[in-house]
Amino acid sequence: MTTRILAAAGLMLSLSFGATASECEVALEANDMMQFSTKLISVPASCEEVSITLKHTGKSPAQAMGHNVVITDTANVQAVGTDGMAAGLDNNYVKPGDERVYAASKVIGGGETTTLTFKTDKLSAGGDYTFLCTFPGHWAIMQGKFEFK
Ligand code: ZN
Repeated sequence: MTTRILAAAGLMLSLSFGATASECEVALEANDMMQFSTKLISVPASCEEVSITLKHTGKSPAQAMGHNVVITDTANVQAVGTDGMAAGLDNNYVKPGDERVYAASKVIGGGETTTLTFKTDKLSAGGDYTFLCTFPGHWAIMQGKFEFK
């Protein structure tokens, strides 16, 4: 049953027009030095869905040096980061129901990997977006441009 559903989903993906799936999949790394592996994530605006795979290449546990990836408008980075800190680890440092957040992964620790898949229907081509980590104290450094064009 599960296999059949996956096969159907795969067929639907391959039939959709626009960007190829690989262009809509992004690999991102974060480390124990509070750094992302890139300052720029760029995906074509023809991606109806984007997948970001975040790998924590460090050794620190999530409680000490956790990382996530959150997409928001550049103008909202500080507010999302500040509210995220207050939300706590149980909420993956994202305010529950935060409408300024387009997508957010869970918080992971060293050696872990998580994949964030989200629909892009709320994004506009050429919009001013930023990806960031909302772990307390990280957003000011751990951020980069999320280009959707
Ligand atoms: Zn972080």
